[in-house]
Parts: sequence; structure tokens; C-alpha cells
Amino acid sequence: MVKFCPECGGDLKMDSSTRNFICKSCGLYASRDKIEELKDKSQISSSESRQRTHDDYLDWWQSSKKEKQRN
Ligand SMILES: [Zn+2]
Repeated sequence: MVKFCPECGGDLKMDSSTRNFICKSCGLYASRDKIEELKDKSQISSSESRQRTHDDYLDWWQSSKKEKQRN
């Protein structure tokens, strides 16, 4: 059961007549399948950004190690 908007994290309300979801915060209007699709995409993009942050940290750590070796 989807409870939160994949776009903004706001509360989702289900329209019982169309069985689509409506976001009370940003106005997103989508079917359950579409919501799941958007949710999957947002999870992929957040794990990608975590990986990038990790790589940046590794670069910083490796370059600072090189500086120490030079001194
Ligand atoms: Zn929203």
C-alpha cells in the first residue's frame, strides 16, 4: 500500500471512484502502477547519489593520503 507521494513525500489520498492516487501536497495524480514506477525511480536515483558521495569521499581520502606521503 502506497502512503506517501514519490515526488514530494506528502500524504496520498486514494480516489475511490477512479482508484487513482492524489497527492494533497503537490497535486500529483497517478494510478497505483504509476506511483510504484515513480517510487522505484526515486529509490534508484537516491542510491546513485549515495554512491557518488562515497566515491567523492574515497577520492578525498586517497588524495589526502598522498599528501601525507609527500611530507
Ligand atoms: Zn506530492
